[in-house]
Amino acid sequence: MSSPLVVAVDGTSGSGKSSTSRGVAERLGLRYLDTGAMFRAMTWWMLRQGVDVHDPAAVAARAGEPEIVSGTDPTAPTIAVDGTDVAVAIRQEDVNAAVSPVSAVPEVRARLLALQREVIAADGGIVVEGRDIGSVVVPDAPVKVYLSADPAARAERRTAEEGGRDVEVTRASLLARDQIDSGRATAPLTMADGAVHIDTTDHTLAEVIAQVVALVEDAGART
Ligand code: C5P
Repeated sequence: MSSPLVVAVDGTSGSGKSSTSRGVAERLGLRYLDTGAMFRAMTWWMLRQGVDVHDPAAVAARAGEPEIVSGTDPTAPTIAVDGTDVAVAIRQEDVNAAVSPVSAVPEVRARLLALQREVIAADGGIVVEGRDIGSVVVPDAPVKVYLSADPAARAERRTAEEGGRDVEVTRASLLARDQIDSGRATAPLTMADGAVHIDTTDHTLAEVIAQVVALVEDAGART
């Protein structure tokens, strides 16, 4: 029996990962996992508990506590912490500012890696988006994509999605997160071996989705 399909989608903040991943999953009837939402949920919980997010030892000591549950329907993904729906709360500025330092803590990564692998191993193919999916979480994924885009395009997209924010503030926040995510010791953001790089700057969402769907179909044809 062949193992279920995994499509690994990595890339920088605002490169179009979420919209692309959801679109591909919908088109192909696959599940969808947003691992960034899991790191954000962990961060939200740490902030609520009053943990100093800039103290790695304090974060590590509590990383095993929150129960984080991801719903994988690409048309309506969900994220809950200890039974509370946090889909809106995890997109707020306090979480944006704290998520990269929390995500750099090895104990946080180990805990969420185990959870991610549990979800991925459940029934059916899945599109998984994050920073280390093709490099660490599912290194043998048959399809790996790395998305990037110019910082200005990324900031404009994020500002349009979130509404109301100053585009310069958004740009600075994206670049600050990229820098920490790329520079950390454990599972840094990187283009995985075998990944196909798509620069989304000058492409519409529909075009990028079509490119990834074609890669999946091509991989299917080769197995
Ligand atoms: O994808 P999103 O921008 O929501 O991710 C938020 C943060 O979560 C990233 O900036 C990064 O610090 C962390 N993250 C990670 N590994 C992943 C997914 C997200 O470290 N696989």
